[in-house]
Amino acid sequence: MIFVLKPTVTQAEIDHICEKIESFGLTPHVSKGVERTIIGAIGDETILQSQPLEALPGVERVLPILKPFKLASREFKPDNTVIAVSDVRVGGQRLAVIAGPCAVENRELLLETAREVKQAGASLLRGGAFKPRTSPYAFQGLGEEGLRYLAEARELTGLPVVTELMDPREAELVMMYADVVQVGARNMQNFKLLKEVGTHDKPVVLKRGMSSTIKELLMSAEYIMSEGNYNVILCERGIRTFEDYTRNTLDLSAVPVIKQLSHLPVIVDPSHATGKWDLVAPMAMAAIAAGADGLMIEVHPKPEEALSDGAQSLLPRKFSRLMASLRLVAEAVGRTV
Ligand code: PEP
Ligand code: MN
Repeated sequence: MIFVLKPTVTQAEIDHICEKIESFGLTPHVSKGVERTIIGAIGDETILQSQPLEALPGVERVLPILKPFKLASREFKPDNTVIAVSDVRVGGQRLAVIAGPCAVENRELLLETAREVKQAGASLLRGGAFKPRTSPYAFQGLGEEGLRYLAEARELTGLPVVTELMDPREAELVMMYADVVQVGARNMQNFKLLKEVGTHDKPVVLKRGMSSTIKELLMSAEYIMSEGNYNVILCERGIRTFEDYTRNTLDLSAVPVIKQLSHLPVIVDPSHATGKWDLVAPMAMAAIAAGADGLMIEVHPKPEEALSDGAQSLLPRKFSRLMASLRLVAEAVGRTV
């Protein structure tokens, strides 16, 4: 249920409504918008149906949330969510560009890449220390050593860092170093992991599973949010189709669809979506034109020697050129980079 409150509602009335919701065994989630405050009552709604809830002081209307995702839905929060990551804002007028290598391979390479992407205008640095590889024999990541290099790169460049968390048992460790934790496509429906990241307040990049629908992606965001963490950034990274020229098929219509359904920021990863470096720039520009709030792009100074995803990684100078083109597209849609 959504409680739409009167513009004149007082804090005491909000507290009272929340207590009332709790007394029925539901959890209240307060969302203070520009114009209105809304309270979502999450849990078994049937118990509320026979209650005269509109009689509560401060309540204007009580409505059912029709979508299966509640906290993630635009009905619950009409205004766009802007997520603060240090001094970077994700979801605002300015686009957030996350760039860096697929994996942290060694200290020198990471620091070099971090310096280059910073200079080109990236706003966050990416790099996996725990890698979800298809083969158990492929490079699995440097683990904590990789996290330490990420922290050093942040120190050097001032860029906040994004890195993947694969196992709830490593949550404390990864969160000690990361500014944003990534839940990868392969773990989008790892519900234990989603609940774990939900109990922290660290921003999360939640990547769409390669065979998941938009609704399932939003339900996974709901898992995180229902635990109390509202800082969820959705990421479209391509889905599996019959087309095999590209690694995946970038579902760009997911961007405006998600914007209709949800208030959460949405970014696009053209690197994993296409699997080919020369398709990254055109799809990155298309993503911004479609309304994405940012991008995640793999950059490597020696793609031919990369331990993972070299074929889709941009050379730093190509990334820099892409940033220049993005400025023009961003301007055309009223954004800045
Ligand atoms: C990654 O970002 O390096 C990654 C593994 O992405 P995805 O989970 O989208 O495949
Ligand atoms: Mn990768």
